[in-house]
Formats: sequence, structure tokens, C-alpha cells
Amino acid sequence: MNFQEQETIAAIRTMVRDFAAQEMAPHVLEWDEAQHFPRDLFRRMGELGLMGMLVPEAYGGSGLGYHEYAAAIEELAATCGAIGLSMAAHNSLCTNHILTFGNESQKERYLPALASGEHVGAWGLTEAGTGSDAMRMRCTAVKEGDEWVLSGTKNWITHGISAEVVVVLARTGELLDSHGITAFVVERGTPGFRGGKKENKLGMRASETAELIFEDCRIPDAQRLGDVGEGFIQAMKILDGGRISIAALSLGIAQGAFNAARNYAKEREQFGQPIAHFQGIGFKLADMAVGLETSRLLIAKACDCKERGGDVTRFGAMAKYHASEECVRIATEAIQIFGGYGYTKDFPVEKFFRDSKLCTIGEGTSEIQKLVISRGLVARGTE
Ligand SMILES: Cc1cc2nc3c(=O)[nH]c(=O)nc-3n(C[C@H](O)[C@H](O)[C@H](O)COP(=O)(O)OP(=O)(O)OC[C@H]3O[C@@H](n4cnc5c(N)ncnc54)[C@H](O)[C@@H]3O)c2cc1C
Repeated sequence: MNFQEQETIAAIRTMVRDFAAQEMAPHVLEWDEAQHFPRDLFRRMGELGLMGMLVPEAYGGSGLGYHEYAAAIEELAATCGAIGLSMAAHNSLCTNHILTFGNESQKERYLPALASGEHVGAWGLTEAGTGSDAMRMRCTAVKEGDEWVLSGTKNWITHGISAEVVVVLARTGELLDSHGITAFVVERGTPGFRGGKKENKLGMRASETAELIFEDCRIPDAQRLGDVGEGFIQAMKILDGGRISIAALSLGIAQGAFNAARNYAKEREQFGQPIAHFQGIGFKLADMAVGLETSRLLIAKACDCKERGGDVTRFGAMAKYHASEECVRIATEAIQIFGGYGYTKDFPVEKFFRDSKLCTIGEGTSEIQKLVISRGLVARGTE
């Protein structure tokens, strides 16, 4: 095991950190307050290679691996969780679904614009009545000649209004049949398809979350991703990788909260000394630092499984579960260290705290991660 970070990863960290400091930090509070999705920022991120990190260079991407990808999300999230979340949804969900399960002509058609940031992607699995229990989805796709007719609504979709390219999972077979769901790619502007209500959220407010509405939306069979009936299995595989990105997002938010709290604890004086000198505060910082490191190690393990083969389902779920719960704990402690000032919008920890909670919910709640982990442990005996 080598704990030394490779030079390419260190270089990506520096580049993203500089970008976040210059082009994000001055605006994050304003975007958060107005719930503004800064679409142009993602074009700029495309120029830096952040919108197609896992996409091979042949399709206009950066051709990098999960270690580099996780590092980039972590660095963005240390400045703004919402931008990290949008980058994760675009790369891991929409773009990666087309990359992994699309045919050659679909990859050539969609990946270059997604990787450059000219297009932003969305991925629609969740519906109003079916979140954790996605297999009961009601959105349907019915074959008519050489076309599919999509009907139904997807909820909670990142970039539901702004995305130019959407991967959608729809029922093509029987309810509860794991082979009854198929994936399709739909382009903005297709008749019968539109974005719907935008959610007014607690945190991650600069990341757009909205409905996708399909009303008699006709798309050619050429826009089907993979075989009929394979959509649910595809989605579970996409989520295995996606969870690594939510773990990295969690780590970044937690690191941002920790940095702010540590600096404040060294400066803020009470009883004639910096509060960091009180054991009660120093022990909090120690526990927070341990949480950051354990999250980092699990994320590295999950990335390694993805790159070199291994149980990505188990370690992706473990990394996501651990890092997201630690993120909430660390962001909460950061507020405590700031005292009353932490409860205001004058300091960044208030936003880290609000952003942190999404991490234990999106791409499978903590309870669902524990289901995934425990089922794997039971199925594989004593491993
Ligand atoms: C900001 C944001 C962005 C999102 N982006 C996307 C996106 O881009 N695409 C997309 O498809 N979805 C997206 N989602 C949806 C997200 O993945 C779901 O919210 C999540 O999977 C949980 O589903 P739910 O909200 O319906 O909760 P529910 O499934 O209704 O769960 C409610 C509670 O019950 C618990 N629970 C449910 N089942 C079990 C069980 N079997 N055992 C124990 N506890 C259980 C859950 O853990 C949770 O605590 C997004 C959500 C948010 C908030």
C-alpha cells in the first residue's frame, strides 16, 4: 500500500483549488442565497477537463481514473458542496452511463459536448413515490414501431431544467421485475419533454434539483442505452461508481468545515487564550481529523476497487456511508467550535453544515448503504 499521492493527483488538486479560490469562492454565498445554478461555470470547468474526467481522450475527455476524479470533487466541495454535487452528477451519472452502456454512435454523439461542458447532463432514476425503492418506478416507455413513447415524471433530478442531455430509466416490463426497466438518452428540446418544478432546498442550493416531465415523448429506438430490460442493472452499476463521488463530495465539505474551524479555534480567544488550547476544543479537532483520514482511506480503497478490480459495490457503499456520516458530524462540530458566529451566514461553516446533510441521502441513504453492505456480507459468508 502506497500512501504517497501521485504527482498527477497533486497537480489536479492544485489546479482545482486555484480555480475554486478565484472563480467560485467570491460568489458561493450569493449563488446559495439566490439558489442560482451558475451554468457558465460548468463551461469553464469543461475547459479545465473537469466535465469529462473519466471519458477517454478519444471522445474529448480527460481520460483520468477514479483517484483523480475523487480528488477533483473533494477540492471543489471544500469551497462549495453544490458545485461538487453538480460535477458528480454530471460525470458519474449521466456521462458515465452513456460511456459505460452506450454504443459507439451514442458515445460519439453525446460524450464530446458533455466532456467540454457545452452540455450539462442529468440522470433520472428517482420518482415522487419511489426513491430507495426505485424498482417500483411508474414512468413508462412503450414501444410503438421504431419509437419509444415516454410518459411519467422523475423527481429530485440534478440539472432537471438546465441539462441538455438526460439519461432516464423507464419501465418497459412488469412491476418489480429487475429486467423490466430500460435506459434511454433524451435531448432537451424533444417534444413532450420538459423540466418541471425546481426544489427549494436546505443546502446544495446552487445545484439545480428539479422534475423531468415526459408527456407522450417520442424518441427513436436508437436512443435506447443497452438492451431492453437491462436499465435497472445498469443503474445499480452506475450508482456503485457514483457513490464514490458522493463520498469524495462528503470529504471535501468536511475538510472545508474542518479547515475553517481549526483556523478559528487558533484565533478566537476566551478566558485569555485561544480556544484551541482548551482540551474540549482540541479533542473535537482531533476527532474531526481522524474522521477525515478514515474517510480518505475508504475512498482510496473504493477507487482502487474501481480501477484495479475489487468489490466496488461493497467498498463504494462503505466509503459513501462512512464519509457522509462523518461529514455531517464534522460540519456540526465546526458550528460548535464557532459558537454563535457559526450560526450566522457571516462564516462559511453554516453553509457546510446545510450542504453536508444531502450526502447521507443522495445516491442512496445511509440506511440503504448499510443494506447493500450487510447483504453482501451475508451473501459472501465470512469474507
Ligand atoms: C439534492 C438532491 C439531488 C438528487 N439528485 C438526483 C439525481 O440527479 N437523480 C436521481 O435519480 N435522484 C436524485 N436524487 C434523489 C435521491 O437519490 C433520493 O432522494 C434518495 O435515493 C432517497 O430517496 P427518497 O428521498 O425517496 O427517500 P425514501 O426512499 O422515501 O426514504 C425515506 C427514509 O426511509 C428510509 N428507508 C427507505 N427504505 C428503507 C429500507 N429498506 N430500510 C431502512 N430504511 C429505509 C431511508 O433511508 C430514509 O431515511 C436527489 C436528491 C436530492 C435531495
